[in-house]
Amino acid sequence: MQSVKERWYKLYSWVLVVTAAICLVLSTMALALTQFKDLQAHGFSTLALAISVTIILYRLLLFSRISNRFEKRVAVFGMSLITMLLSISFTNSTGQLHSWFHASWLVLILFGGMFGGYIILSFLVLTSMYMILIMTNVRGQLRVDVFSLGVLGLNFAVGAASYLIWRRMYINQESLQVARLSGALKSKEQQAEILIESLADGVIVTDPEGKISLVNQAAATLTGWSVEESVGIDVQLVAKFAEEDGKELSDDLNPFKQAFVTRKPVDIILRLMSRDGKTHHTVSLVVSPVILPKAEEPAGTAAIIRDISAAREEEHRRADFISTASHEMRTPVAAIEGYLALALNDKVSRIDSKARSYLEKAHESTQHLGKLFQDLLTSAKAEDGRLVNHPLVTEMGSYLEQLADTLRFAAEKKGLLLDFTIGTSEKSEGSISGGKVVRPLYYSYIDPDRMREVITNLFDNAVKYTESGKISVGLTGNNDIIQFYIRDTGHGIPPEDIPHLFQKFYRVDNSTTRTIGGTGLGLFICRKIVELYNGHIWVESEINKGSTFYINVPRLSSQEATELQKKVAQQPL
Ligand code: ADP
Repeated sequence: MQSVKERWYKLYSWVLVVTAAICLVLSTMALALTQFKDLQAHGFSTLALAISVTIILYRLLLFSRISNRFEKRVAVFGMSLITMLLSISFTNSTGQLHSWFHASWLVLILFGGMFGGYIILSFLVLTSMYMILIMTNVRGQLRVDVFSLGVLGLNFAVGAASYLIWRRMYINQESLQVARLSGALKSKEQQAEILIESLADGVIVTDPEGKISLVNQAAATLTGWSVEESVGIDVQLVAKFAEEDGKELSDDLNPFKQAFVTRKPVDIILRLMSRDGKTHHTVSLVVSPVILPKAEEPAGTAAIIRDISAAREEEHRRADFISTASHEMRTPVAAIEGYLALALNDKVSRIDSKARSYLEKAHESTQHLGKLFQDLLTSAKAEDGRLVNHPLVTEMGSYLEQLADTLRFAAEKKGLLLDFTIGTSEKSEGSISGGKVVRPLYYSYIDPDRMREVITNLFDNAVKYTESGKISVGLTGNNDIIQFYIRDTGHGIPPEDIPHLFQKFYRVDNSTTRTIGGTGLGLFICRKIVELYNGHIWVESEINKGSTFYINVPRLSSQEATELQKKVAQQPL
């Protein structure tokens, strides 16, 4: 939509063009045709012709260029000045200060004010200069008379009136507002710029094509590309990422692309390679799509990059220490546990009942200590990716059946009922033969020992945190996933604790957990192991009703399983 001001600019400039065109025609007639020679006495001279042509050419050739480059008002300003010269030329050739063409000056001054005080000012300077020139006689003496002063005064009075009229009507309300607004915007822009520059984290903003439109110094230091070099370049060229362990990052996993396509933020830890490829930083990266209101496509992406190399190194050192310490301590604890077991063994030693009860307690505590060291060691290894893992193609149904025998013992010892369901119990899925459901084969590529750790851990927890009732262990799935569940009728878990449950050392703090021993490492280890197989672990729970822990792992079709088995068998040991 065109603003009012815009329309006035146009109208004003075309009025001047039309006036110039009339002058052009009349001047040409006066100069070329004898019957119109009289017109020369009214100012239609060669000079007027030349200025008129200049005005028309200016409007046609320069006006829009100047207004595009600077502002419309600058273009109007130029046009007004040339027109003023035309007026002066007419005045000069029609009786100078006594010419009725003065009226055109006044009209120009009066309307020129619409486009800013500086137009009035320049008109007044021009007219004053002309008048001083006229008032000065050839010998250079200034001849001031009342009439000339009156004319000059009239010019200034009209200039002042024009300023007051237009300032109140236009300039004041629109231009000042615009000026104030643009000032505010500029300062906001500066503030944003200062803020982004002073951030210790790297910031990269891209356009929809993935080209960098903004980058701060911190990001430039991390990538090795200077700010000036980075702008306008494809972000994938500047920010080269690999997986944290150094593996190449596939193209569709590129976080910038992912955030743009999915329109969801991507929060990931990656390795950022330096420009020369010789060094790298471990970075925590959050890339968000830039979504403008009402826009269908994101306008680009914005990324925050934090260098976490030092923190990661510290974590590795800590994990190293914990694994070495727990490994060293596990050995003597195992020896103590062994000797205590010998002392409690009737066949090899004889002790009285009091000593037996003390030794039994010591044995229990030593076992707990041994488990703690084992958990610490496993969790430290899980954290820095050193967990021993030998995946095999495993049929999870028969695997769980074998495991069931071991698990059953723990549940029965506490008087809990146990229910195993392998495959779906719905008859529609399996075929009935001889009253038995023929269950599907659930193949997966996992390390059976590691998976045993997970299921045993969840099962032990179910037993540990359930006073009475039933524990159900089941296995179901669809074409893509295999799902385990371990359901109990225990105390349940408060909803506020659920999001933290799989974190290291997290234990629910209530009277039950305070009396029941534990380390808070079990579920953390379970999560780490399940994640090794691109699986997912979670819990659903209701207070006083019980909890269900679920594990999803990818399922292999029978054909995939056979092929993978063959491939593994062919691999050299
Ligand atoms: P812990 O050694 O304390 O059992 P875990 O990591 O195995 O450590 O479990 C973390 C916490 O989760 C436990 O302290 C317990 O509060 C809660 N929890 C785990 N499993 C269950 C369950 N089946 N029922 C109720 N609470 C559970």
